[in-house]
Amino acid sequence: MPGLIHRLAAVLAAPLRAAAFAVRGERHLADLRHAAQSTKRTTSDTAGAVRRIDERLEKQGERLSAVKREMDGLRAELSDRLLRVNLQLGAITRAVQQGDASQGDHNGGGTSERRLSGRVIPVSVPSEEAQWAPVIGGEVHPDPTGTEWLHLDRCPFCAHPERTVVVEWNKLIMLAKGPDQHSAIYDYSCCHRCGVVYAARRPVGQRFGFLLEHFGEVTGKAAADGIIPNPMLNPYPLSDADKDRLRRMASRGVWVSDHLGLSKDEFVEGALRDRFANSLHVDIIGSLVTPAHARVLEIRPRAGTIAESLRRLYQADVSVMPMWESQKLLLKELYGFDAKGLIDYDHFRIPFEGRFDLIVCNHILVHSVRPAEFLQELRSHLNPGGYVYFYNEPEDREVLETGQSIIAHLNPLHMQTFDQPALIRALATNGFEVTFIKSRDCAFMVLARAAEEAAAWTPITADALRRRIEAYRLARDRAILKMPADMRARLGDQWTGAIEHSLSAGAVAFDDQGQLRFSAD
Ligand SMILES: [Zn+2]
Repeated sequence: MPGLIHRLAAVLAAPLRAAAFAVRGERHLADLRHAAQSTKRTTSDTAGAVRRIDERLEKQGERLSAVKREMDGLRAELSDRLLRVNLQLGAITRAVQQGDASQGDHNGGGTSERRLSGRVIPVSVPSEEAQWAPVIGGEVHPDPTGTEWLHLDRCPFCAHPERTVVVEWNKLIMLAKGPDQHSAIYDYSCCHRCGVVYAARRPVGQRFGFLLEHFGEVTGKAAADGIIPNPMLNPYPLSDADKDRLRRMASRGVWVSDHLGLSKDEFVEGALRDRFANSLHVDIIGSLVTPAHARVLEIRPRAGTIAESLRRLYQADVSVMPMWESQKLLLKELYGFDAKGLIDYDHFRIPFEGRFDLIVCNHILVHSVRPAEFLQELRSHLNPGGYVYFYNEPEDREVLETGQSIIAHLNPLHMQTFDQPALIRALATNGFEVTFIKSRDCAFMVLARAAEEAAAWTPITADALRRRIEAYRLARDRAILKMPADMRARLGDQWTGAIEHSLSAGAVAFDDQGQLRFSAD
């Protein structure tokens, strides 16, 4: 502490010296002006003298400006150091209080033994308003007046009105490009009844469509030129040349062996990758539903693995609903499926007549704009006791526990996030009874049966809700402090608050040199 006080004294002394110099300078200037005026009045040979005096005045002015700049710099440094001291004192006070509270448990200390990350966190950053460059092509936004926003006043799953905003922004807050200047605020909120975290402000209609069309850029997944390298994820309408190319590639079939030595643009590499990645879902469905001769609908198949396998192994009658035109073409060329419709995440409709025994959904609940309507549409197309199988639904544990940035996770197409109990409740309240749920690589696989009416479910307990909100709050603060350096100023006004909360939770700490760092996970 004495070392700190000396450093503080040194910092404080400098601005005082500078201020004294500035006062002397101003007096000097006044004297010079006076001398100049009297010289002008009384002598005829003044021009040279006046010029010299003007030059001196100018020099004095420059010196004064330099002093002022120096003072501003010192003031900023002083403010930074005081803030650092303040934060450190707060941390010490809390440590002492916690030490008092747990007196007798251990031999005191403990915080100094914590491992810290290599990255240094500044205690303050400047603050400035965010500005986004237009997406590639500078395409005009379809909703310039901002009418296509949905403001939810209750949970889109269980309709409960009480909630807590846990993360205000989506990923656009850390990206350079955006659809427009008003798309980064979603107010992700935790429902106090079912525990789902949902975007309380969400884009609809063409505004949502624009995000989908430009999903590579608005999720930060496209290459710099806006091109999506994987043809199965190409969201754009296909030209005749695109179609010819995809047909040529698909003509090699799915089982292209490495020993043929084909280059990657000669066949659909993703088709076999999809078989390897998704055959486990066929195993789950085959084991738990036994869909022999069942009527099956697959929504958003990637490259048709599940549909094709259920048809081949169980003689299922399969219909498919793809997301992009490119997928539709590949499903036809690879497996002969006549896909119908493209998915509308806003007003989701199934374009097939009659009911199904099983509906398989890939990564769709997370994006659904009106999830209760979506689930109702599924139910109305299921036979009594029919099943829905969801896969690739992200589990929020991925970001709450692993130290990832939740802001980076919540891209602007993410409308809701779940932990396991929240997902079970969300389905139950919409008439689906979960019969099997498993998380793998932080993604859920869920099998649920259509119930006669809303299945019984228990709301989240007060204690679990408090822990869930706190986990999100910590993830939010960590994401703020992990903002890319060139984007930090956008959340500059949140910076100190994020540090204070993270300090009190032990998520960040000061090292021996007084530098702030993340506690190692
Ligand atoms: Zn709810």
